[in-house]
Amino acid sequence: MRQMIAGNWKMNGTLAGLAGFAAPLAAGVDGVDLLICPPFPLIGPMIAAFAGAPVAVGAQDCAVEVAGAHTGDVSAPLLAEIGASHVILGHSERRADHGERSALVRDKARTATAAGLIPIICVGETLAERESGEAETVVRAQLAGSVPDGFAGLIAYEPVWAIGTGKTPTVADVAAMHASIRASLKKQLGDAGTAMLILYGGSVKPANAAELLAIPEVGGALIGGASLEADDFLAIAQAA
Ligand code: PGA
Repeated sequence: MRQMIAGNWKMNGTLAGLAGFAAPLAAGVDGVDLLICPPFPLIGPMIAAFAGAPVAVGAQDCAVEVAGAHTGDVSAPLLAEIGASHVILGHSERRADHGERSALVRDKARTATAAGLIPIICVGETLAERESGEAETVVRAQLAGSVPDGFAGLIAYEPVWAIGTGKTPTVADVAAMHASIRASLKKQLGDAGTAMLILYGGSVKPANAAELLAIPEVGGALIGGASLEADDFLAIAQAA
């Protein structure tokens, strides 16, 4: 199964920097799918910058409604129309900063899928939840609430305490969590849950990518900080 190496630029990046970022990635990486999710205004320009290159461009969120009086929101059909392929949903920063609950994430995933976007649903426990031994229970509940029936997309496991901190779980902890997520997906989705890619995210960088990407059931990576520099992103993809 091909791994997906996805970049989440969060609220970073500039129009002026796009050409320089795209050039080293334009040839792609054999055997790996590449995706970058920049801020909304950069999606169109980034698609243009990667024209003809095997690099997909996605969004970091979409609205649950498809149109109407929702100031500041961006609809899935519009994202699809301009050429976005994927959309990250339920990232822990949106769950924390915007109070997004799993039920909303599930509804957004339905809207996104109907519009032709491939959702990447994020789940992950806080440090307190891990330390109290509840990590798998919390993630199972997030999956049960966030993943709609018939879901066809990707899952990203991102422990909140590993995001942007330089800390990563042990190989054994990642393996155990991904196995637990796989079991949940099979239970919820049947056969469709067997092949679904489960990305790992949280302080992935060139130095730890090979080890993390070799863990069973890790289907790729969702990368924040290290996706902002083309060389780092490329090195991670080459480790897949
Ligand atoms: P990080 O972020 O790679 O900077 O830890 C990952 C993410 O939040 O998707």
